[in-house]
Amino acid sequence: MNEARVGLGIDFHRFGPRGPLVLGGVHIPHDGGLLGHSDADVLVHAVCDALLGAAALGDLGLLFPDTDERYRGVSSLSLLADVVGRLAEGGWSVANVDASVVAAFPRLAPHFPAMRHALAPLLGVAEDRVGLKATTSEGMGALGRGEGIGAWAVALIRTAERGPGR
Ligand code: MG
Repeated sequence: MNEARVGLGIDFHRFGPRGPLVLGGVHIPHDGGLLGHSDADVLVHAVCDALLGAAALGDLGLLFPDTDERYRGVSSLSLLADVVGRLAEGGWSVANVDASVVAAFPRLAPHFPAMRHALAPLLGVAEDRVGLKATTSEGMGALGRGEGIGAWAVALIRTAERGPGR
């Protein structure tokens, strides 16, 4: 029987003094980048956790611990590819993802087409199944002061057409 599941992912990273700033797999011109063990792509991390959550496979911190030197400075797109592969092993494919990024700066909307172009092939979906939005917190709190960026994502997964045992 066909089955679908939904998952939620949330992530935050703090700005540091140096770049690059990588969001949705795209390098964005900005004075500083986000701090993290990997490339700190907060948007991709939220998407990964949404996918992992939908399949109840844990979370990024569990699968790719920041104490593991193999993941230092790694592109989060490679983590996303790994996550999608784990879902496929369980017989799951991605139906769609939708994410919102909360950032005081920089302006992200101009970069969304490039992000969707980068993410869709890894997710195995058409670009119109990758929803991306940006908003601010109206100056409130740490995100409002631009101390970092936060991302929220949801993902819908479904049983693959020829998944094992499904
Ligand atoms: Mg993260």
